[in-house]
Amino acid sequence: MRLELKGICCSYGDQEAVKDAGLEVGDGEFVGLIGPNGSGKSTLLKTVYRALKPDRGSLRLDGKDILSMSYRASASKIAAVGQENELPFEFTVREVVLMGRSPYKRIFDTDTKEDQELVDKALSFLGLSEKAEVSFLELSGGEKQRAIIARALVQQPELMVLDEAANHLDISYQIRLFELLKERKLSVLAAMHDLNMAAMYCDRIYVMKDGRIRASGTPKEVLTEDMIHEIYGVRSRVRLGEPDGRVDISFLSGKN
Ligand code: ADP
Ligand code: MG
Repeated sequence: MRLELKGICCSYGDQEAVKDAGLEVGDGEFVGLIGPNGSGKSTLLKTVYRALKPDRGSLRLDGKDILSMSYRASASKIAAVGQENELPFEFTVREVVLMGRSPYKRIFDTDTKEDQELVDKALSFLGLSEKAEVSFLELSGGEKQRAIIARALVQQPELMVLDEAANHLDISYQIRLFELLKERKLSVLAAMHDLNMAAMYCDRIYVMKDGRIRASGTPKEVLTEDMIHEIYGVRSRVRLGEPDGRVDISFLSGKN
């Protein structure tokens, strides 16, 4: 599944939040989106999972215009885990995860054995089997996030859009999630704060600042001391680690 965005512009009132942004995610590629708070990452991702309509620009999935697809059609291909994980109604954790199957159903379809098996597997993978019958509203922040991730997994998407989806997860769940996505060869577009995690998992990274895409490339090309300083105003030391030459960043305190 290949995603292609061109010339995306979004505004809130008269404030332009995303300016002429373009990016591509190739089939099975893990692409990161980094940049400071308020740079427009969430806004851009929302246009992909259709929580927001761009003012201008084109969004294509395998060459097809996403905006002209039915919501059901795009939801069977694109799953998203957003930054906010609140739900307005009371559902059990199992019910929330089961909602991920809805793009495949008509209104009066009952849940199949396959649906239940997928849900059980996802709950177990995310350590939520014991919480399956508990109200979603009673979960901790990290558990809520894991339930929403489970819902996205049972959706069996071809493209996964993650907006800092791992920020409430402990390191073991972060690694399990990213490795599962890699294993399944899903196309992934993920806004990430942790630059070392981005270095570890991303095939390519786009850098956003002030609503624009400022740079893109492999982690080695993008995550340089100069770029990190230019984008975040922070000093760092970047080393190429052993044995795989992976980028390894340590941050220096303000005085260095
Ligand atoms: P990021 O995800 O990179 O932190 P966002 O896309 O959330 O950035 O925000 C980009 C800009 O748009 C910010 O200036 C933010 O204040 C503004 N913004 C985001 N969401 C809204 C909204 N719902 N209404 C008005 N302004 C918004
Ligand atoms: Mg954001």
